Amino acid sequence: MTWLVWRVSPFITSIFFILGVFTLFEVLVDWIKVKLHSKDINIKDHTVESVIGILYMLIFSFGMQYSILGQSYSWEFMNFQLIAIVFCAYFLNIRIPYYYLFPIVLLFMIYNSSVGYWESWCHAITLIVFYVTMNKGYLWSQKLKSPLFFYLGTGTFFGALLWYFMKLKFDFSWTTYVQELSYLVIFELLLYSYVRMLFRDDRLKARLAEVASHDALTKALNYSAYETEVKYLFKNSKDNNLSFSMVMFDIDHFKRVNDTYGHLAGDRVLQHTVDVVQTVLNANDSSVKLYRTGGEEFNILFPNYDLEGTQTIVEEIFTALNHLKVTFDDKEIEISVSMGVSQISNKDATPNDFYKRVDNNLYYSKKHGRMQITTI
Ligand code: GH3
Ligand code: MG
Ligand code: MG
Repeated sequence: MTWLVWRVSPFITSIFFILGVFTLFEVLVDWIKVKLHSKDINIKDHTVESVIGILYMLIFSFGMQYSILGQSYSWEFMNFQLIAIVFCAYFLNIRIPYYYLFPIVLLFMIYNSSVGYWESWCHAITLIVFYVTMNKGYLWSQKLKSPLFFYLGTGTFFGALLWYFMKLKFDFSWTTYVQELSYLVIFELLLYSYVRMLFRDDRLKARLAEVASHDALTKALNYSAYETEVKYLFKNSKDNNLSFSMVMFDIDHFKRVNDTYGHLAGDRVLQHTVDVVQTVLNANDSSVKLYRTGGEEFNILFPNYDLEGTQTIVEEIFTALNHLKVTFDDKEIEISVSMGVSQISNKDATPNDFYKRVDNNLYYSKKHGRMQITTI
């Protein structure tokens, strides 16, 4: 059609078709991810990509084949289908064990009426080995200086073999064989450059998200991340009748540290404090998160913890921080902290009601001599 009307060759049309298919996929997956995040549905991005990727590419491959089922040229869309397979196996890195691939390939053969041909069986088995090689080779190839050699080498080798089985089955000319294989290699190269461009954009977005949610000095999560999380956990705990506790702590007489040793020393103390708390949390429970919510003030959120449950971790943090000696310019700076702890109560209407109680507890610790924990 494009040739007759616009004088665009089918090869050029195929290129734009392939890029269009993957662009639509990216847009669709992004849209679904945003929807899921906005509804607070916690599904990993890779899981979303994998499920949508498999469904999308199956519909694409089976759909394309529909118009040429059982014809003498039913190999015509094979390059598109191979590219879809490469995309799932390599770029999306969807881990499908080979024994799950077998029924999919068999279904395609039944659909395409090719179960009775030995060439189709060789083709099917090669296809499974191709998928697994691309899939397993992905992580390995990322460590190479140029993953492109692995990618293109594997793509060309298996492409040549797969097209050879089709040549045997349909007995088309060597010219057609070489032409189709060359198209495949060109498509693979195009896909490689295109996906790298798309992924670079994704990496940039991830980096920006990281910067927006973390504090630059200590690398702890920041106030903005705290606000989002406390809102979510508060609502979730209320709706599902779950426990939820919070700790707030503040470094005692921190102004004196700055005044005595200078601001750089104060900065070092803040960094070291975060490292110490993070080490304790990592060793206990990674779902408990630390936030730098003020200058020398920190909050720790304990989802699914009641007051009693927090006790061991809180005491471990308290002990690790008090009399902690931070070395700066050959000087040792000793610090202590005051803490406030509480859990949500039925009377709390908003996260701020909960926060105020924790803050009051911290204030109580400060007013009553510092270096202590107040829990109500
Ligand atoms: P208290 O025991 O009552 O908490 O006394 P404090 O001195 O710790 O509290 P105050 O609120 O009087 O002082 C906090 C100080 O923390 C003042 C501010 O200069 C310092 N500060 C805030 N952010 C930073 C930072 O990023 N780096 C450094 N070095 N100091 C900071
Ligand atoms: Mg302080
Ligand atoms: Mg303070």
